[in-house]
Amino acid sequence: MTKYRKRIYEIINTSCSHLNAYDVYEIIKKEMPDVVLATIYNNLNALVDEHMINKISIPGKIDHYDKLVKHDHLICSRCGKLIDFKFEDLTKNLESQAHVSIVGYDLKAFIICDECKNK
Ligand SMILES: [Zn+2]
Ligand SMILES: [Zn+2]
Repeated sequence: MTKYRKRIYEIINTSCSHLNAYDVYEIIKKEMPDVVLATIYNNLNALVDEHMINKISIPGKIDHYDKLVKHDHLICSRCGKLIDFKFEDLTKNLESQAHVSIVGYDLKAFIICDECKNK
């Protein structure tokens, strides 16, 4: 694993916010000034391919990256803000409907966040 990949993995796994490639770039640049944005993208994508981090894609918004620990998301449909949330585990319910074993699922619930509500 390259020094960049290792550091990016650490950053994503210890962050509670959902960083995008620019956020990661800003952090890494302070530590390793030679880094370029393409390197950040390549390493983020490689980590996603290796199933070491999650990519959260929301149509019309920049991709965010997230740790693997299972949790769900509330997403503001106006500003795109992601809030970590843990819904009751739906695996059993999904399995009884689909009649197959569910190995994982990705649940996003859309909301209007307090900030947007007050605008
Ligand atoms: Zn919002
Ligand atoms: Zn999350």
